[in-house]
Amino acid sequence: MKKWVLAVCALLISEHVMCWGFYGHRTINNMAVFLLPPEMLALFKPNIDYLTEHAVDPDKRRYLVAAEGPRHYIDMDHYGTYPFAELPRQYSKAIAKYGADTLQSHGVGPWWLQKMIGSLTDAFKLKDKNRILKLAAETGHYMADLHVPLHTSSNHNGQFTNQSGIHGFWESRVPELLAEKEWDFWIGRAAYIPDPLTYTWERVLESAAATDSVLKFEKQLTEKFREDKKYSFEWRNGKTIRQYSSAFSIAYDRRLNGMVERRMRQAILSVASIWFTAWVNAGQPDLVSLVNQEISKEDLKEFELLNAAWQKASTLDGHE
Ligand SMILES: [Zn+2]
Repeated sequence: MKKWVLAVCALLISEHVMCWGFYGHRTINNMAVFLLPPEMLALFKPNIDYLTEHAVDPDKRRYLVAAEGPRHYIDMDHYGTYPFAELPRQYSKAIAKYGADTLQSHGVGPWWLQKMIGSLTDAFKLKDKNRILKLAAETGHYMADLHVPLHTSSNHNGQFTNQSGIHGFWESRVPELLAEKEWDFWIGRAAYIPDPLTYTWERVLESAAATDSVLKFEKQLTEKFREDKKYSFEWRNGKTIRQYSSAFSIAYDRRLNGMVERRMRQAILSVASIWFTAWVNAGQPDLVSLVNQEISKEDLKEFELLNAAWQKASTLDGHE
């Protein structure tokens, strides 16, 4: 019975796949730490491994919590055409206009992020190290997701245009292939964000505006590449995995003119900036005194639970 439930869950969630991939999320949280001011680095740098590892907790939670999925995206195309003026940016107004069910079924990413930012700010005020780190890691995840163009489209995995797999291609395969070799993550400093909601919607609109190119260029390249040149096969963990070939991935990246790198850089800056903003809005509490507080037993337990659910589910649906 349990297995059956998990299998169904896995099928449901594989619709909105993994977000930036684990590699991308970990890299974004990790690099964001280096953009922080020294007062924050005092706590964040010694805990950089935690922030990196827990960058993917919200994706693991999808295997346990039904409401988790819609927090990672918003199908903007459901609300007309760019710049989607008919969709109120404030949650209370959007819910009044469309109702909670519609919002849930088309994703609540931008609004959920505001809730997370509020909770992170409160954790800073309380000087609660466990909550600061946990909420910072997860706020980083939700912020990063909204920088992925296909997280703002109902055609999130190319399922309406015969481009199945494009989601992971853009956000996992391309960064995994190129980020370390070619991309520059030297970004500068976190900046204070006076109005996080407006800032969030600006990033969402950038993502939505990029969706057409993401889909169109893959289609154009597919016409140029023979099937056996588009994909390659790799032996991984005792299984043969079909993936987009290096040649196809590089050609796609060139055609996108560095879009994936640009969005990843923007995500790093946004994550660092929202951490910084939450800390400033909490009154810039002293974090040095928190460095030696231990991670709580409850948090360790929750992490084990998430991990166990994710590992079980990923063997069922084939996610790495
Ligand atoms: Zn996600």
